[in-house]
This record gives sequence, C-alpha cells and structure tokens, in this order.
Amino acid sequence: MNHQLIQDLENTIQNIPDFPKPGIQFKDITPIFLNPKLYEQVIADLANFSRGKIDAVCGIESRGYLFGIAIAVALDVPFILIRKQGKLPPPFVSQKYDLEYGSAEIEMRTGQLQKGQRILIHDDLLATGGTTEAAANLVQKQGGIVSQFSFLIGLKDLEGENRLKKFNAEVHQILT
Ligand code: AMP
Repeated sequence: MNHQLIQDLENTIQNIPDFPKPGIQFKDITPIFLNPKLYEQVIADLANFSRGKIDAVCGIESRGYLFGIAIAVALDVPFILIRKQGKLPPPFVSQKYDLEYGSAEIEMRTGQLQKGQRILIHDDLLATGGTTEAAANLVQKQGGIVSQFSFLIGLKDLEGENRLKKFNAEVHQILT
C-alpha cells in the first residue's frame, strides 16, 4: 500500500455534497489532472498492479478512459473502449444492466477483444458495482477472461466489491 499516494489523493480529490442528487457525495477527480506528477504516480500504481497479468485493458466511459489508456500504454497492451449506448458504430455487442430506476446498456466493438485474453476492467470509481459487473459480463460474452478490476476509489458501504466476487478476479482500489 502506497501511503504517500493515498494521502496525496485524499488531499486532491474533492467531495461535492448533494451532486448530482441530494444525498450523493460526488467524488471529483479532475484536480488530479492539474498535477502531472500525481497523475504519473497514479498510473504507476495502477500499472504495477496489472504488470504481467493482463493482455488488454477495458475502460468504462468516460472517466475510466482517463487512466485506462495510460495503464495500457505503460504495459504495452491494447486498450478497448466500453461505451454507453448509442455511441459506437456497428458491429458491437451490448449488455443491459439495472439502475436504481430503470436500466442502461453498455457496448463494445466486436473483434477488438480476442478470445482467451486476460482482461483488466478499469474505472475511476466503484460504487454499487452495477456498471463494472455489466462490463465484466460483456467481456465474458466475447470469450475474454476477467482477470482484474482496478479503481482509484472504492465506496466501501455500497458493497460493489461483493458484487464482483463471482468473477474470481483480483480487485485493486487505491482509496477506499
Ligand atoms: P456503480 O455502477 O454504482 O458502481 O457506479 C459507478 C460509476 O458511476 C462510475 O463510472 C463512476 O464514475 C460513477 N459514480 C458513481 N458514484 C459516484 C460518486 N459518488 N462520485 C463520482 N462518480 C460516481
């Protein structure tokens, strides 16, 4: 565990109360990008977790791209975008998942993920785990092996980690 990095991130990430809805505390990670040295350290930490263990990174739109691409470049492996519905041209595969009210869908271009590849699924934050679980289902649908999950932040009380247990993959959260 990198205590200095945890401390620096705690001092940098901003907590915005009641956004986007009353009762939600929004974690604003954008100040990290004002500090290139800190960004570099975040990428080094995330890349260390995955080094030698994955064949590709899948990043979840949109904040999962901000770190996911850099992890993939650092490890010299492909980066595959998981997008919200309606953004990708065909052909793509999609996966539906439940939200608090209603449902949503995420999509991935077909042919980008190769069967048998060990996949890291990356996003900025793990809350209920619903989005990440759907991403993992999408990866498995195409024959990928869900090997790892990584996040900058895990919100412990939302039990996201429990939801991901069934994938038997390693989980890394820099801040919990
Ligand atoms: P979930 O599917 O509940 O795990 O939600 C994860 C997704 O929602 C991630 O892509 C996050 O970027 C976003 N998200 C959920 N809760 C928060 C929060 N409190 N602050 C910032 N982003 C959040």
